[in-house]
Order: sequence, then C-alpha cells, then structure tokens
Amino acid sequence: MWESLKKINPFGLAEYPKDYLAIIRNINEPLDEEAFNAIWRAYQFGNIAHTNQRRSSGEPYFTHCANVGAILAGWNLDYDTISAGLLHDTLEDTDVTKEDLAREFNPDIAELVDGVTKLSDIKFNSRQERQAENFMKMFLSVAKDIRVIIIKFADRLHNMRTIKHLPRIKQHRIALETREVYAPLAHRLGMGNLKLEFEDRCFEILENREYTKLCKRIKSSRGSREKYIRYFSAPIKKQLAEYNIHAEIYGRAKHNYSIYRKMQHRGLPFEEIYDLLAIRVIVDRIEDCYATLGIVHQIYHPIQERFKDYIATPKINGYRSLHTTVIAANGKMVEIQIRTHKMNETAEIGVAAHWAYKRHGSVKVKDTEMNRQTRWLRELVENLQSENKDPGEFLNLLKIDLFQEEIFVFTPKGDVVKLRLDSTPVDFAYEVHSQVGFHCTGAKVNGKIVPLNTRLRNGDTIEIITSASHTPSHTWLKFVQTAKAKTHIKKWIKKEQFEKSIKLGEEIVEKTLRRLKKISLLKEIKSSPQQMGYNTIDQLYSAIGSGQITVRDLVEKYLPPSADDKQSPDTELLNKQFLNRARSTAKGVNVGGIRGTLLNFGKCCNPIPGDEIVGYVTRGRGVTIHRNTCSNLPAPENEDRFIDVKWNTSKAQSFISRIKVVAEDRKLFLRDVSESISNLNINIVSVDIRTDEGVATGLFIIQVRDKRQLHRLIRKIRLIPGLIYLERI
Ligand code: MN
Repeated sequence: MWESLKKINPFGLAEYPKDYLAIIRNINEPLDEEAFNAIWRAYQFGNIAHTNQRRSSGEPYFTHCANVGAILAGWNLDYDTISAGLLHDTLEDTDVTKEDLAREFNPDIAELVDGVTKLSDIKFNSRQERQAENFMKMFLSVAKDIRVIIIKFADRLHNMRTIKHLPRIKQHRIALETREVYAPLAHRLGMGNLKLEFEDRCFEILENREYTKLCKRIKSSRGSREKYIRYFSAPIKKQLAEYNIHAEIYGRAKHNYSIYRKMQHRGLPFEEIYDLLAIRVIVDRIEDCYATLGIVHQIYHPIQERFKDYIATPKINGYRSLHTTVIAANGKMVEIQIRTHKMNETAEIGVAAHWAYKRHGSVKVKDTEMNRQTRWLRELVENLQSENKDPGEFLNLLKIDLFQEEIFVFTPKGDVVKLRLDSTPVDFAYEVHSQVGFHCTGAKVNGKIVPLNTRLRNGDTIEIITSASHTPSHTWLKFVQTAKAKTHIKKWIKKEQFEKSIKLGEEIVEKTLRRLKKISLLKEIKSSPQQMGYNTIDQLYSAIGSGQITVRDLVEKYLPPSADDKQSPDTELLNKQFLNRARSTAKGVNVGGIRGTLLNFGKCCNPIPGDEIVGYVTRGRGVTIHRNTCSNLPAPENEDRFIDVKWNTSKAQSFISRIKVVAEDRKLFLRDVSESISNLNINIVSVDIRTDEGVATGLFIIQVRDKRQLHRLIRKIRLIPGLIYLERI
C-alpha cells in the first residue's frame, strides 16, 4: 500500500497531517490516486467544518473524526464509508447540510452521514424494561444500511477510548449504554473483537474497583504466563515449519470482563479461570487449519468434547474457526483457536465482512433501490442461509423480525416508542400516556404538522399537540392500530354517551312528568331508582335517555294504583307490560351503529325483537322504530329521515312473542296447542283463553329463540283440527 502511495505522491507525503496518514496506513490494499484524493477531500472538508470546536480533552474536535476514519479503514471498509466516518458529525455539529454533502461528495456518503446523525438522536433509557432490545431493533431499522451501524460503532469505540475526559456521570451513562446495547449488537453482528473491547472498557468505568484489582493480578502473573505459552508453542511451531505451513501463533490474553464475569457466574477463584490458557494460530488457507489441528493433536492430548468445528458449521453470526482444548505436559488445559486470516477479519468486522464492500471486487453494492431499508437484512439472511443455517434461528438471534409488524419512533426527547405497523400519531399519543391521547388535537412528525391519521414510519420523531379542552373523536377508531388506543377511545365514548344519555334522560323525565302533570312523582323516583331496577338515578336517567325504558314505565311503577286501575285491569296495560318485557330482553336497538339515541316504538305496529325494523327520525322526539311492514310508516319522500336500525341482541337471547289463536271451542284444543309449543322446546310465559259462543280465543305469550322457531310453531298450530284463525300480534 505504502508503495502505491509513493507513486501517487512521490514528494509530498510528509506534508500531510499525521492523523490523515494514519487512516491511509490502515488501508490494507493498494490505493489509487482517486481514492487517496477522495479521502483527503473528506478529511479537509471535515477539518474545516469543525474549526474552532474542541473535545472535552481540549483537542481539536476533528481529531475524533479522523480517528473514526482510521478505525473504519482498519476494518477494511470501503472509501465512501471511511469518508462518511470523517464527516460523521458534520450534520449534527456544524452548518453543513445533507445536500451539501451530496453535492460535495456523493449521495451515498450523504445518506451514510445522515443515517449516523439519526442514530445519534436515539437516546438509550434503561429505565424501561426491554428498552435495550427495542433500542437495538430501532437501531437496525433506522440505520437502513449496515455501514451506518459500523460507522456508529467506530464512533462509539473512539468515544469509549477517550471517555476519561468526560464528567463521571456522563462516563457512566455512556458506558451503560455501550454495555447494554452496543456490545450485544456487535456480538450479534459477529464483531467479536469489538464486543470484547466494548466490554472491557465498560468494565473499567462501571466496576472500577474490581477492574483495577483484576488488572493487578493479571499483571503479576503475566511473566510466567508468557513464558509458559512460549514453552507450550515451541513444538507446534517446529512441526508447522516442517510441514511448510506458514502460521502466526500468539498467546491470547483473556479479556478482563469475561474473566470477571466467569468468576461471578461460576463462583470460581481467579486462578482457576485465568489458568485456562488460550492460544491462537492464524494460517493462510482453510486446509492449513485442519493440518494444524492434526499437528496439535499429535503433540498434545485433546479433550474430545471440547472440540468445535466452526468452519464446517459456522456460528450464526458468521464466526468461523476451529476450537480445541488440549492437556499440556503439567496437566494444564490450553484452549487453541485455529483460523485463516480471512476468518480472523470476519471476527473483526463480522457480518460486514460478508458484504461485498470490495473496492476492487466484482460486486459493488448499489444503494439506490426502493427496498433499501430491508435489503441489507435480507441479504444478511440469505448469506447465512447459504451456509446452511436456519434463518429463523438467525432472526431470533438478531432479535429482528424481518417482515416487521412493528415500527420504532421517537419522542421529542429521543425515547424510543414501539408501535404496530401503520400506527398513527393518535396511537403514539396513547402509547406515551392516556392523558396525552385524550387531549391530543394535532401532531408534528419530523417538525411538520400532519393529520392525525398519518401513518408513521420507522425513525419518525413525533410531537403531540394537546389541549386541555379537547376530547377523543369517534372517527379515531377508524384509523388507530394499537389495542391501547382502541380500548381507551372506546371506553371514553361509552362514558361520554352515558353522560349524554343521563342529561337527556333527566330532561325527558322532567318535561314529560310536567306535561302529564305528574311532576310530584319525581321526588320518589329520585329517592328510589331501585324500584325500577337501577342502582342510581343516573343509571335510570341513562336508561330513559338511551330509550331502554320510557317515562310511561316510570309512571306505571311509581304511581299509586288508582281506583280505575283496580276496577278494570285494562288490556292496554297488559299489552304495555308485554311489550316492555319483550324489549327489555333485547336491551335496546342499535341506531346506525350508534348507541344512546332516544328511541320510541311505533304504537301502530308494536315491533318486538326479531322483527325487521326501520327507524324514522322524528322532530324532537328521537327515533321511532317501526316494523318494515307497518302500514303507518311515514311517506317515502321523507327518505332522508329513515335510518337503519338493528335489534341489539345476542344469539343466546330468546325473544318474547305473542300469538293469538281462534278455534272451535273444543276441549282438547288447548292441550293440542300447548303440546305443539312444548314439543318444540318453547317456553310458555302465559296463556289466556276466553270462550264466547262456541269460539275460543287463546292468547299465548311464549319465548322463542328466533323468528324461524316461531314460524315452525305457527305451521304446526295451523295443522291442529278446529283452527279458525291464527295471528301473531
Ligand atoms: Mn462522533
């Protein structure tokens, strides 16, 4: 690489800043002039944009960006990604816009920097349970391009490396976020080394005392340890040389945090865990891995059950290597990892290594496609599928539902909120707090005012505008997606209707009683609604207001029986009682799908549940319900006053019905009718038979399941000898 640079710039390399050369030095392949200049331009642009900004350490701010670029170069990322790394803070911290970047560089770089900026808006908040997982999902779905996450990783890595300059509280917050989100995410994406470094650095910040203690112990045993490893590897090296296998062997220091965690989890003393020595052998080709394994097993005795072939069956996150544990001369166990350089690189940048971010390769990823958002994930899955992996297992590992039924959006403070797909600002409002939902009047998505039924998308920032006087609307039910919003809105509507019907009911009761000159009853009605079967007067008013009972019912109940009534229990009253009973079984009528309308039943046709009915909107007296067949229906020119109504009954209910039967007065006639009724399993509520000059008139009140059952009965009764006339009334 260095040689190729000399060709580009034979004289002037020394004039370049050191941190720029560090980036170039990390690029592990021949560099052409175009690429060299492109990265240099990004360096200069970023450097100028961040002029006069300083880090907490006092250094110029841009040193951070240059370091991020160098880390990315070390991970073998493409030039656009390295440039984006150099520019990653320009959108957030300077006046530079996305358009500037697209114009100065290219749209790819602009998108990458924009993605990183969006990720920075997400603030991790460990108060909420599962927030870490949501955060990761959010991260992945907002990032769209895996390189955005990798830039973010490089950014975080450099921040962790320089965290000492920050105030204690900030250190703690950043370390916690790194441990709970960045480290596991790095692991899932197969960036094993990064995960280990993240963990060790968090360990140092979060459990500083234990960290220091452990470091001391490791330091004190380092000398003997290194000596032992040299002694152990010597015969292996010798054999490898004889077989002409080119290999690098080194003792692998166990990472502090993993030692600490093992001590914690297994309750083992430091010595026992630290005694497990580890060695890594890196070779050129896959065949060499197996040859090396054979050599190692010839020299040292392997522990059978500890052998793992992650080359034949790679780990789901892409990790490949041979693992074996052998027993050395003095009985110590030594762990050996054998892998190629390529595999080692994979452990460095994980899934990104599977990507063809090749600078001089055959595949160049194009990021212009529509489905960019999920493409990288899909490719990731395909890639791992081709290695005979169960994609379901992988997705589970990544904890990402590829065909997500959920989206992740932000509060203005940057908290993550998880919602169902196609959710709207109203769903969001209820998710934040039910009171926010109740009073929400409008919403801003990404700073722009939008209609409340706007479908939210991943990564949107939502601000809800509330007003104390505002209340939910019926129409919200048409578009909300989340169960939470639905339940709250429905509950509210129910409550609101209850309150409305109370007011209406109260008005109706008072006015009607006044008109009937029976206002004196009001006091008793108020003091004992229980007589009508209601616990509170509000419930009674509501029943009136929603048409379940009428003022007449009240009068009948509360009016002391007058002399008239005693003398002749008139049939009208009986009739009324029957109708009320039938209707109360049905618990009301749904008018146009809305409950709580004031209802009257047409006196002309006496509809009962099961009848086909239609509503007619009267002036000032609510809706009157008629049978479809009623001859008294108002003229059809008033068409706009008709309204669809349905009995609001459940299937399990039974209806009360009346039939009038006229027959020759025959002794067995009553028995025959009763038999027909009970044969059909129909309940008889009451029977009234009168005989007049050889003709019997029977009034049967029965309980039927539905109209079909009633018609079956009617057909049966018609067959009874002596029947003159039958009518349903
Ligand atoms: Mn940064």
